[in-house]
Amino acid sequence: MADNQSDLVILGGGSGGYAAALRAAELGKSVVLIEKDKVGGTCLHRGCIPTKALLHAGEVADAARESATFGVNATFEGIDMGGVHKYKDGVVNKNHKGLVGLITSRGIAIVEGEGKLVGPKTVQVGDDTYTGTNLVLATGSYSRTLPGLEIDGQRVIASEHALRLDHVPDSAIVLGGGVIGCEFASAWTSFGAKVTIVEALPHLVPLEDEANSKLLERAFRRRKIDFKVGVRFEKAEPTDAGVKVHLEGGDTLEAELLLVAVGRGPTSADLGYEEQGIRIERGFVVTDEYLRTGVDGVYAVGDLISIDGGPHLQLAHVGFAEGILVAEHIAGLSVVPIDYAGVPRITYTQPEVASVGYTEAQAAEKYGADAIKTVTYDLSGNGRSAILNTKGAVKLVAQKDGPVLGVHIVGDRVGELIAEAQLIYNWEALPSEVAQLIHPHPTQSEAIGEAHLLLAGKPLHVHD
Ligand SMILES: Cc1cc2nc3c(=O)[nH]c(=O)nc-3n(C[C@H](O)[C@H](O)[C@H](O)COP(=O)(O)OP(=O)(O)OC[C@H]3O[C@@H](n4cnc5c(N)ncnc54)[C@H](O)[C@@H]3O)c2cc1C
Repeated sequence: MADNQSDLVILGGGSGGYAAALRAAELGKSVVLIEKDKVGGTCLHRGCIPTKALLHAGEVADAARESATFGVNATFEGIDMGGVHKYKDGVVNKNHKGLVGLITSRGIAIVEGEGKLVGPKTVQVGDDTYTGTNLVLATGSYSRTLPGLEIDGQRVIASEHALRLDHVPDSAIVLGGGVIGCEFASAWTSFGAKVTIVEALPHLVPLEDEANSKLLERAFRRRKIDFKVGVRFEKAEPTDAGVKVHLEGGDTLEAELLLVAVGRGPTSADLGYEEQGIRIERGFVVTDEYLRTGVDGVYAVGDLISIDGGPHLQLAHVGFAEGILVAEHIAGLSVVPIDYAGVPRITYTQPEVASVGYTEAQAAEKYGADAIKTVTYDLSGNGRSAILNTKGAVKLVAQKDGPVLGVHIVGDRVGELIAEAQLIYNWEALPSEVAQLIHPHPTQSEAIGEAHLLLAGKPLHVHD
């Protein structure tokens, strides 16, 4: 058994792990990155990138269907799933190749294989061990299910199976109305499937401001996507044609398949974490705000963690930011803990839902309902949105006589607008300061400018 020494050993080469590797190498550290599958992890191979490719293919299908609205003669003839996969996999493979090239060009050693902790800062892979002055745990997450509901990969599937379906299902039930469930419901509807979403909480995308949830629900109704909210799943059973789902209260639903999208659990079992003294709660590795595990020199990042035992945003860009923070902390640079409320969040449905900062309910709880105000600017006043034939709104939450606390947007393509909104929130901008900024015409970004003009008491394109 050979032991290999380096400054930093990283277990898991997804968004969090490889970002830590790249930044540490930039800072002059020798780095070993251990990955059992493919670097890029869930995001590149089974998450962000392939789902957004599916959604884009769906957008193209919808554009063909709706072409007459724009005076263009085109017909939608159907979906060639083989062609969709070729396009999607082409994007993934190109990015994967680029990422491997980037990692190796920085002098990072990629070790292929499944690692397990055998010492506080030692990982065993096969017959070899890798010991770092520091160790980063970045083993990510897996698709969760509910008690008694087995994912068989055929009729009852998880997102990774949904991404590899060789046909468009006639019908599908989506269990879970969060981001992943709503994105598949949107893409499959664009492809021609009949979709029903089941969500136990009272709204779709339940972590969003209620106004955003309601706008998405309205749009889904228009698109004939069925959804049942505030209702619990009881059990599922196979039928000749697919699957039958029983809901609490006695309702049943039938479809060709059931997609289970009830959240992601941390990949932490049987990896030697607890044996080395790492604190685990509900499977999550518990860290402080500097992402330290409590075991000297051992950090953890990404979907795997819970900061101080609380909820944590499972997003690729959070993993990137945490990887960078850890690498800089290890290198002795001065780092600032992440303000998670300032992380932009996007659901890439049609229409998109995008937000940053506090929802109205969260802001009211933090500052008091009397200390905040909100405005809503409807996209019907925005020329570019009318050209694109999309509906939605920009809602702002602000402290009375104070900075903007939250920006919540719904509409086609609005995910791109959240980058400006994150500057507004994170720089604690006053409505009057943003109202001074001139937004280019005609763009959807003007809706952000208009909402701030409204909040600053000088609305422009707003009917009384
Ligand atoms: C369907 C879907 C869509 C998504 N869409 C988005 C999106 O649009 N935007 C967004 O920001 N986020 C999205 N996400 C979330 C995003 O993919 C994750 O937040 C991100 O990948 C987390 O990065 P990570 O490094 O923590 O974990 P992962 O990306 O899961 O990486 C962990 C890596 O560790 C490896 N590993 C695990 N155990 C071991 C071991 N014992 N030895 C060696 N290697 C090991 C795994 O193979 C994996 O490569 C999506 C997720 C899903 C499932």
